[in-house]
Amino acid sequence: MTTLLISDLHLEASQPAIGEQFLSFLAGEARQADALYILGDLFDAWLGDDDPNPYYKTMKTAMRQLTDSGVPAYFMHGNRDFMIGEAFAAETDITLLDDPSVVDLHGHRVLLSHGDALCTDDAHYQQVRAMTRDPDWQAMMLAKSIDERIAFAVQARKDSMARGETISNDIMDVNQDAVKSIMLEYGVDTLLHGHTHRPAVHDVELPDGLATRIVLGDWYDQGSVARWNADGPRLEKMPR
Ligand code: MN
Repeated sequence: MTTLLISDLHLEASQPAIGEQFLSFLAGEARQADALYILGDLFDAWLGDDDPNPYYKTMKTAMRQLTDSGVPAYFMHGNRDFMIGEAFAAETDITLLDDPSVVDLHGHRVLLSHGDALCTDDAHYQQVRAMTRDPDWQAMMLAKSIDERIAFAVQARKDSMARGETISNDIMDVNQDAVKSIMLEYGVDTLLHGHTHRPAVHDVELPDGLATRIVLGDWYDQGSVARWNADGPRLEKMPR
């Protein structure tokens, strides 16, 4: 049996190829998995579980069909879909995971994270993150109408893109000290995350020896998946 881990699909109605690949994945390979972990940015935006957009309904239905088939699925928030809540979890029968979480994958303790919290060089982003993860801020946002939330998100995206053009690539990657520190804190030799859209397997030098950081890729032009079985993990592309 294989455990599947994915992130950063950035599903949105205007990019149908990504959604079609995800639907095929859910109805195909995922049905044979022992579990599916989705580590954030499944959706390019999520303005609340009450969003009536039919595209989201299609995706939720497909995920529910997977969990109904007996495959447990887990979701961790990304920086785009951090407003996914308990209603989504109930509709899809997906279990929400804290970021970070330690899980046992075929006898190996692995620390899972979306990855944005590790990008500590971007102080401005970390301020935004702290604000938007505050339950009071989320309650204030969810009290607005869907149209108001959409307008807010459009402006937030513009601000973010304006910043993205001016800051260096290195600032958008994880900070190595943050990586080492969280791995030591949780006592793991393997960290798996997404967010940076830089799929790779990295060595990490910890005081006790060499550890591993696995980075999932985005689904913009092809799928990206970590397949983990009794032999260990494989980070692979899924062409389409
Ligand atoms: Mn992200």
